[in-house]
Order: sequence, then C-alpha cells, then structure tokens
Amino acid sequence: MPELPDIEGFKRVLADNALGKTIAEVVVNDARILGELSVRTFSSRLRGAKLVEVHRHGKHLMARLSQGGWLTLHFGMTGALQFEDKGSSEPPFTRVRLDFAGDGSLAYINKRMIGRVGLAEDAADFVAAEKLGLDALDPRLDFNAFKAAVLGLKRDVKSVLMDQEIVAGIGNIYSDEILFQAQINPSEPIASLAPETLKRLFLEMRKVLKTAISRGAGSEQFVERMPKGSLLPERHKGGHCPRCQSPLKIFKVGGRTAYCCPRCQGD
Ligand SMILES: [Zn+2]
Repeated sequence: MPELPDIEGFKRVLADNALGKTIAEVVVNDARILGELSVRTFSSRLRGAKLVEVHRHGKHLMARLSQGGWLTLHFGMTGALQFEDKGSSEPPFTRVRLDFAGDGSLAYINKRMIGRVGLAEDAADFVAAEKLGLDALDPRLDFNAFKAAVLGLKRDVKSVLMDQEIVAGIGNIYSDEILFQAQINPSEPIASLAPETLKRLFLEMRKVLKTAISRGAGSEQFVERMPKGSLLPERHKGGHCPRCQSPLKIFKVGGRTAYCCPRCQGD
C-alpha cells in the first residue's frame, strides 16, 4: 500500500513530466474511480488545461489546473502514477489517462480500485474535508505540534501514527520502521511514553521518511534501498532484527499486522 515516500515518488513523476503541458485528451477507462463525479464534468474541466503546480499532503496528491481548481489523486491500496512517452502502450489497470498535446501521457493505475481521482475547488478546503492532520513532513509539524496532536490519546502508538487525521502520510509499513528505529513496541499506549521517548519517536518519524524519499525507497518497492539497519527489508515471515538478529515478532495491533523485535522493542 503506497505511503508518504511512494506518493512523493508519484509527485516527482508528475512534476518532472507533466507540469506545464496542455491536456489534449482525457480517457476514463473505469468511471467508478471518480465516485460521484461524472466523466463528462471531469473531462471538460481537464481538457485544454495545464497542470501548473503539484502538492502532496499525506497520501494525497493535488495538481492545480491552469483554468482553476485542482485535480486530486488518492492511491488507496494499489494505486500508482506513471508517465508514458508517446507511442507506448497503456499500462495494465490504467483507470484514468491524461494525454498531453504532442507529448506523452500520465496514467493513473489502480488494480484494486480502492482510491479516488477527483476535482477540488480549493486545496486547503479539500484537506479539511478529508479531515487530514498535518503532513508528517510539514515544517509546521514541529515537536510541540506533534505533542499537542497526540495529547490525551489512549490508543497504541502504531494506530496513532497511522491515523491520517492526526498525522497524514504514514501507513502500516513505515509505522513499523519508525517504531523499530525509535525502539518502541507498536502496542505501547502512546500516553505511557516518557517525554524523551515521544521526542525520539517524532525525530525518527521525520528521519525515516526523509531517508526513504532521498533513497527512492517505497513501502513495497525498493525497500532494499533503505540504509543498513533498517527493518523494511526484513519485514516478512522469517525475518530477523537487523540490530540483534532475533526473529521478528509478527502480531496484530489495532487490526493491522505489526512487525517488531521483541528484544530491541520490548515484548
Ligand atoms: Zn533486535
């Protein structure tokens, strides 16, 4: 499932290939991905427009249209964004395709159809309507803001990290990596963390996500690009702790599968 580092990669695909180009044709292969929005409205708003700015918030991408409004993209479980040069065949499971005047196409791919392509009038209103917390890498999310956002929560630390309404961008996989680096057990109630442990969690959250972005690692793809000592490449059945070599413990936390080292992160 794509998480913040993956979406950052899709943002680059859009920024490097599609910004400033005129959308000549809009192809919707499966209208279900648009939800309530009609194909006709969607296509007419995009056709002839240029994507002039791209912004990521958590797991959402928003691209501003030259004629006003924003194209919004959410990738759900299996979504991706790919740019194809002119003459290339359409990638499998392309649900929406934007063809640029004379130069290539942007394909929104989504095998399992969980996700959404839409339109918004205003980016800030869209973020508010989706009830998203600050992006995990937003400079406004300093330690004090993070502390305030999690204050009084009675839930386990992994569920809190993954709650998009508290902090946006982190999912099942990167929450495990962050908690491993911070040496915190995923099932620990966040309220019981000592102030210095909470600070460590915050710093590792930023560090892990920034490292993943700079190395081009995703949540399922290219995990081997993470630095030595990362949990991600070992996050599978039979995996071992990269620090102490103990077999990783796999268990359910808040309905999701967590991987952790019982020795380094407490049993
Ligand atoms: Zn260990």
